[in-house]
Amino acid sequence: MLNRRKLIQRLTAFPFVGGLVSTIPFASAIASPKDPKRELFKEFGVRTFINAAGTLTYMTGSLMHDEVLEAINSTSKEFCLLDEVQDKVGEKIAKMVHSEAAVVTSGAFSAMTLALAGILTGKDEKKVAELPHIAYTGMKSEVICQKSHDIVYNHALTNTGCKIIQVETAEDVDKAVNERTALLHFLHIESDKGKIQHEEWVALGKKHGIPTGIDMAADVPPVSNLWRFNDMGFDFVVISGGKAMRGPQSAGLLMGKKHIIEAARLHMPPRGFNIGRGMKINKEEIFGMYVALEKYINQDHDKEWKEWEDKIAHIQNTVNKISGITTEIHVPPLGNHTPTLRITWDAAKVKVTDKQLREAMRFGTPSIELGGGTANSVNVTVFMLKPGQEKIVATRLKEELNKATA
Ligand SMILES: *Cc1c(COP(=O)(O)O)cnc(C)c1O
Repeated sequence: MLNRRKLIQRLTAFPFVGGLVSTIPFASAIASPKDPKRELFKEFGVRTFINAAGTLTYMTGSLMHDEVLEAINSTSKEFCLLDEVQDKVGEKIAKMVHSEAAVVTSGAFSAMTLALAGILTGKDEKKVAELPHIAYTGMKSEVICQKSHDIVYNHALTNTGCKIIQVETAEDVDKAVNERTALLHFLHIESDKGKIQHEEWVALGKKHGIPTGIDMAADVPPVSNLWRFNDMGFDFVVISGGKAMRGPQSAGLLMGKKHIIEAARLHMPPRGFNIGRGMKINKEEIFGMYVALEKYINQDHDKEWKEWEDKIAHIQNTVNKISGITTEIHVPPLGNHTPTLRITWDAAKVKVTDKQLREAMRFGTPSIELGGGTANSVNVTVFMLKPGQEKIVATRLKEELNKATA
């Protein structure tokens, strides 16, 4: 990849260069669009890196499997009806995840918006067109969720025009439910922070006759979470496609009750009289998502876990030899469920802050991104590494930590 020095050399080779944009005509002169090996990252001077941090949106999520890319490529050569693809792919996905119906969405966030929109309007097209202006329409307008579950992503729900009502206990739910309540929403990754657990949440929904939904965007592995919440009785479940499943970053799944999915689809392209017209997902992404899901369900998860443990052990054994370093492996129980190495140092012996270490790794060769920690710790995951990269991460960490110890 183009390191900074080379980039600067390239920039200064041109007298008129004021910024990166000016490198584009130059680069396209050496890389014709017909060149199968065209390297767009280099052409644009975009830094690429080894991802030892995790599936983070700002780091572009995950790397799609080759099979996903093949699905995208092979389906890009013909026309078909967008709805027909969604019908047929959705039917197969629903069987795989034990739901009545499913649809591929442009991510977990849009799946939440579309599901709630569908709940509010049903299949009434007049109501579909009215969202998000729900006042005086007779539509419901409130979503109940536990205080600890009310995170930024709930903006997906308020996009419909609804507001969030926070609760803490089951009694709070009983009091908060009224004729305006549209949904009881649950967030799996914060379930240990709430007083009400999944089963009780579903039971509260049933008791009050109100649908329940769950956001489990980043919460495979374990693979069983794909059907666990459908089996449990949630009316809809959303997950991201471009995190551990390694589908397109722009894709996700909405699974759930048939009437909700059917109504949600009225809010989606190709229809355009709705709030979801901008949440388009193309045929290639739909097929790509399907293939990613299929591959994820059928892969050997025990074998993969063992590979992660071996890679973590390699990095751990390498940095453990440095004096002042302690390491610990933990597995986040609810989301990003993968062996994670926390490297902590004695600030008196190892003179570096976490920020400095992460920058040294970022601007080293090759560039490596680590997970954030505290002032004197960082986190390392290996589930987004390509084969062999754990050796590079270990060596570079050792170099930088040794430097700080000297
Ligand atoms: C990542 C994430 C989302 C958003 O998912 P997208 O697939 O990027 O739309 C929503 N909720 C939670 C908890 C997430 O981690």
